[in-house]
Amino acid sequence: MSNRVIIIGAGPGGLATAMLLAKAGLDVTVLEKEPRVGGRTSPIEGGGYRFDLGPTFFLYPQILEEIFAAVGRDLRREVPMKKLDPQYRLVFGAGGELLCSSDVERMVAEIARLAPQDAPQFRRFMAENRVKLEKFAPCLQSPWLGWTSLLQPRLLGVLPFLKPWKSLHAELAGYFRDPRLQLAFTFQSKYLGMSPFQCPSLFSILSFLEYEHGIFHPIGGCNALTRGMARVAAELGASIRLNETVTEILVENRRAVGVRTAAGELRADAVVVNADFGHAVTKLLPPQHRRKWTDDAVAGKRFSCSTFMLYLGIEGRCDQLQHHNIYVAADYRRNLDEIENQHILTEDPSFYVENPGRTDETMAPAGHSALYVLVPVSHQHPNIDWTRERARYRQVALRQLAKLGLTDLEKRIRFERIVTPADWEGKVAVYRGATFNLAHNLGQMLHLRPGNRFEEAGRLYLVGGGTHPGSGLPVIFESARISARLLLEDLGQAT
Ligand SMILES: Cc1cc2nc3c(=O)[nH]c(=O)nc-3n(C[C@H](O)[C@H](O)[C@H](O)COP(=O)(O)OP(=O)(O)OC[C@H]3O[C@@H](n4cnc5c(N)ncnc54)[C@H](O)[C@@H]3O)c2cc1C
Repeated sequence: MSNRVIIIGAGPGGLATAMLLAKAGLDVTVLEKEPRVGGRTSPIEGGGYRFDLGPTFFLYPQILEEIFAAVGRDLRREVPMKKLDPQYRLVFGAGGELLCSSDVERMVAEIARLAPQDAPQFRRFMAENRVKLEKFAPCLQSPWLGWTSLLQPRLLGVLPFLKPWKSLHAELAGYFRDPRLQLAFTFQSKYLGMSPFQCPSLFSILSFLEYEHGIFHPIGGCNALTRGMARVAAELGASIRLNETVTEILVENRRAVGVRTAAGELRADAVVVNADFGHAVTKLLPPQHRRKWTDDAVAGKRFSCSTFMLYLGIEGRCDQLQHHNIYVAADYRRNLDEIENQHILTEDPSFYVENPGRTDETMAPAGHSALYVLVPVSHQHPNIDWTRERARYRQVALRQLAKLGLTDLEKRIRFERIVTPADWEGKVAVYRGATFNLAHNLGQMLHLRPGNRFEEAGRLYLVGGGTHPGSGLPVIFESARISARLLLEDLGQAT
């Protein structure tokens, strides 16, 4: 009889793992508490509009392509997608804007329009980060089983690039003199929920990845990826059971042996946790089975920021907007300090708005627009009471949209959904509403992040944004590859 594996959660990490393990011949059951697959990468639908709940930028499709190829499928055929050019519009509160392109010539010309002296630096930035990513890739692809992993010869090459003393922003100041350009190549640390002033310099590879490989839009939104993955996993034999909440991970003799749900106990040879790390470890793994990750230890970790979201179905088109649009607050440093250190709401916040109808007519009825608005805010903190702030901050967000030319929006709203950090925590089961999981400071990366082969019990594995390599779709898919490989090794099924 084949080995039975239970996967808790049908987010992108859980579904990628299900595909790989089902292909390897295991008996795979995915238990998902929601009535749909996808987790933070699922859709919101209503009034004929469709929005992504979370991810809208699909970077570096190569890893998911390789996973599809490994199970005998073609990602581009299963989930059609478009490369965006321009990839986004950046508007600076301090003045000026950039239409960013992965076409090097066009990007150099665009930079020259804003800051001529900095234009030649773009090619140097690309060349140096190409080397950096090449050196760092093995770190992302390997499991980190302890600090000794650092001594493996192929990983030693990355040490000169870690520069623990240097922030991402300081790194970029070495390329561009204009502060707006420094921000244009560092704001991507927000994808990890971090400030570029605190994020390790290593993460200049994020903006490099955008320009080197482009930004993709799956038709129907990023949720089309998880729908496609669930379809393929089921075709490979995985059973995906919706509306089934796991209430406990069963551990006997320091080994995971199954889970408990409302329907009773389900035994398994291995358990994979895709549910949010902080939530799952504190709520599903009883304290007597935890030595390292006690409630206090989890609470003492640094967590990413959260997001205040508006999903707006709008009558009429919004041609002032590109597909992706980012407004960088005039006082960006203060904006980030208020999010990360003071935990208060900013009155002139940076924000992001997606207008996917520009590329994809499936997102809204003809002549209408489905706008996705994301305002980075503090994770849950006693300083902010979202029952009081919800309506007021909606007004702040709508006021900010006028800075991108959307002045008459409110009266055109035909559908609306708001998600606050309190909702991320309470409804989506995200610890402290920290949407991008544990922060990615060097003290919480590599072997210092919760392990793919989870250290508290045998045959227990983590996948998703809370484990190595980190949050963000490409690395989440990499976590699935790493954890599936470790699990198959442990069950003696590695090929
Ligand atoms: C607003 C936002 C914007 C983002 N934008 C981007 C972006 O543009 N690009 C990018 O690459 N990344 C982005 N991310 C980050 C990341 O890619 C997504 O959050 C991603 O969905 C995380 O995947 P995951 O596999 O870690 O798990 P999740 O998506 O969190 O899925 C976990 C699943 O576990 C289920 N679950 C939880 N508890 C239980 C339980 N007890 N029993 C059963 N099931 C359970 C949940 O319902 C969920 O389906 C964004 C995230 C957010 C929130």
